[in-house]
Amino acid sequence: MLFFRFGVFLSAVAFASAECKCTPKDECWPSSAEFAALNDTVSGNLILSTPPGSVCHPSEPDFNPKKCTFVLQNWFSSSFHANDPVSVGFPKWAGNPCPPIYPNGTSVTGSPNAGRTLCDLGGYPVYVLNATRVEDIQAVVKFASEKNIRLNVKSTGHSVEGRSTAANSISIWTHHFLSREFHESFRPKSCPTEYPDHLAVSLSAGARVREVYEFAHQHNAVVVGGSAEDVGIIGWLTGGGHGPLTSRYGQGSDNVLQVTLVTPNGKVVIANECQNTDLFWAIRGGGGGTFGVITHVTMRAYQAPSTIAHLLEVTAENERDDGTAFWNTIEGIYALLPELKRRGFSGNIFMDRPPLVPKRSFSWNFNLLRDKSSGNDTHEAERLLAPLHLYLDSQSATVSYKSSLKFYADWFDSWDHAVRTEPGVVASSGIAMASRFIPETALVNTSSFPMSTFNSVLGLFSEANRPKSLASTLQSISESVTGFQAHLAIHQPSELSPFLSTPPTAAELNRTSLPAHWRSAPLQFFTVTTYPDNITIEEEREVFESVTNGVGQVLKDFAPTAGSYLNEGDAFDPDWQVSYFGGGENYEALRKIKRRVDPEGVLWCVGCVGTDGWFAKDGRLCRA
Ligand SMILES: Cc1cc2nc3c(=O)[nH]c(=O)nc-3n(C[C@H](O)[C@H](O)[C@H](O)COP(=O)(O)OP(=O)(O)OC[C@H]3O[C@@H](n4cnc5c(N)ncnc54)[C@H](O)[C@@H]3O)c2cc1C
Repeated sequence: MLFFRFGVFLSAVAFASAECKCTPKDECWPSSAEFAALNDTVSGNLILSTPPGSVCHPSEPDFNPKKCTFVLQNWFSSSFHANDPVSVGFPKWAGNPCPPIYPNGTSVTGSPNAGRTLCDLGGYPVYVLNATRVEDIQAVVKFASEKNIRLNVKSTGHSVEGRSTAANSISIWTHHFLSREFHESFRPKSCPTEYPDHLAVSLSAGARVREVYEFAHQHNAVVVGGSAEDVGIIGWLTGGGHGPLTSRYGQGSDNVLQVTLVTPNGKVVIANECQNTDLFWAIRGGGGGTFGVITHVTMRAYQAPSTIAHLLEVTAENERDDGTAFWNTIEGIYALLPELKRRGFSGNIFMDRPPLVPKRSFSWNFNLLRDKSSGNDTHEAERLLAPLHLYLDSQSATVSYKSSLKFYADWFDSWDHAVRTEPGVVASSGIAMASRFIPETALVNTSSFPMSTFNSVLGLFSEANRPKSLASTLQSISESVTGFQAHLAIHQPSELSPFLSTPPTAAELNRTSLPAHWRSAPLQFFTVTTYPDNITIEEEREVFESVTNGVGQVLKDFAPTAGSYLNEGDAFDPDWQVSYFGGGENYEALRKIKRRVDPEGVLWCVGCVGTDGWFAKDGRLCRA
C-alpha cells in the first residue's frame, strides 16, 4: 500500500517517538458526535467514505449488483473517478483497496483473487467534504487543524503521483464547486490604476479543462489549460501546467491573475501581484495541496486564435533493423524540432513499439497557432515543414511517413476534434512515471544548425555533427517503458511571435516560482511504466526502484542540469526538491512560505514543498 511504501522509501526515522496525526485507531480521533456537529456546520455535506468498488462485494453492507455493473463499466474512465467523492484516477495509490469485482471474484483488471481480499478504505480518506461553499471549506480546514487530522484536497483525482488521496484523512472534494465569470477587463484587488487590465475568466475550484475551454469559446476567447478534457485547472496550474496553448501564452502558472484560498489556519485570503504577493508567487509553481485550499482563480484570457493542425506518422519499414536505423532517423527529426518550435509549432509526440503497435512508430499532433486575421494559410505551414519532408524522403529505406495539415478557423475546434479521438484511460493498472525537460543543447549542437543552413537540411546530418547519444537514448528508453511521449514547446514560449500579437512578455512570465528549467527547454520527455495492480508490495517497490534507477536515471544523465515536472514526475525521485522546484534558493523560498502559512503541517502530499518535515508509515503521518 502507498503509506507502507512511503515508510520504506522516504524515511527510516523511528516511528514510536514521532509526533503523528490522529487516526481512527487513536484516542485523539474525534467522536462520532463531533463529526456529526461538523456535518451540521457544513449543511450535511460531509460524506462518510466507502470505496466505490464495495457495491460489488457481497460481504459489504452496500452490496448492489446493479450499481456494481455501472462501476465495472466505468472503472477505466477518468470522469468516473472524478465524480466519485472517494476514489482517484490511479487507485493503486490508495493500495487499490476493494477493487470492483465480477460475480466470480475476479477484479475488473483481471486479478482472480480480488473477491477474497478484505474490502477496506486502505489509503482513501475517512470523511469527504462535498465542497461547494468557501465557509464549508473553512470549517473543515479548521476542524482538521484543531483535531490534528491529516487534510487532503481532491479535485479530479488525476494526480499521477497519488497526491489527492490520503489514508486516515478528511478530504476536501471540489468537483461540484462550480462558478464562472467572464471579464472584459479585470484588475486584481488592491492593484493601482496603472496595473494593466486584462481579458479574464474567474473560475471556482471544480473547473476542468473542457468546461473552461467551452466557456471561453462562448466569448470568442481562449484560456490556457491542459490537453486532456478532464484535467482539473487548480492542480494543473499550481504545478506549472502545459497544454495546447501554452507555447504562445505561457504556462498555467503564468496566466493566473488572482487566487482566493483558505489557508491552513482557516482564513480566506486573496493573493495577487498587489497583496499577499509571496503566497501568490508560491502557488504559481509550488504545487497544489500545499499552501491552502484554492477556492477561486482568475486567469488571463485571449482573443481566440485560428490554428493549423499538423499530423505526422512515421513508421519503421526495415524488418531487419534492430531499431538502430529507426532511432537514428528519429534523432534527425529531433534535431529539426528546435527550429520548428521557433517557427511556432508545438504539440505532443508519441513513440510506440511492438508489441503495443505492429511496428515501431513515431507520431505527432502539432499546432501552428495564428491570429484569426491570417486566414487559411496552410501553404505557409507547408513551406515551414519542407525541410522535414526532404529529410524524411531521404530516409525511405528505413521509414515511411504520412504528413497532413488541416486548417481550423477557431482553435477550439481543433482541440475538440483531437481530444475526442484520445480518450483518457485510468485505473487499468499501477503506474510509475519519469520525466525530464530536455534543453536544446541535448538535441542539437546549435552552432552546427544555423538558420541559414536550415533549408538545406539534408546536408546537416553528417556523422561529424550528428548528436551522438540521442538515438541510443531514445531507443533504450523506448524499450524499457510502456508509454513514451515528448512535448514540444509547450513549456517555453517561442522566441518569435510571427503569427500572434498578444503573447505575454518575458517579464510577465518570470514572476512565478516555476524553476528556470521550465524556461530553457524546448522539449519534455515523459515516460509511463505500468504494472499489474495485484502485485505484492515488494514487487511494486521493485518497479518504482527500477524506474527511478533505470529510465529516470537515463533521463537525468541525458539532461543533467535540467529538472522535471512535478505533475508528471517520478513520485520517488530522491532529488525531488531539485527536480521539481529547482532546489537551492527557489526551493528554500517556497519552504519558508510553507512553514509560515502551515507551521502545523495541515496539508501534506508526496514530493510537495515541506514534505521533508514529515514521513508517512502504516497510514500515519508523523513529524520527521
Ligand atoms: C489523463 C491525464 C492527462 C493529463 N494531461 C496533462 C496536460 O495536458 N498538461 C499538464 O500539464 N498536465 C497534465 N496532466 C497532469 C495533471 O496536470 C496533474 O495530474 C494535475 O495534478 C491534475 O490536477 P487535478 O486538480 O485535476 O487533480 P487532483 O489529483 O485532484 O489534484 C492534484 C493536486 O492538486 C491539489 N489540488 C487540487 N485542487 C486543489 C485546490 N482547489 N486547492 C489546493 N490544492 C488543490 C491536490 O491536493 C493534489 O495535490 C494529466 C494527467 C492525466 C491523468
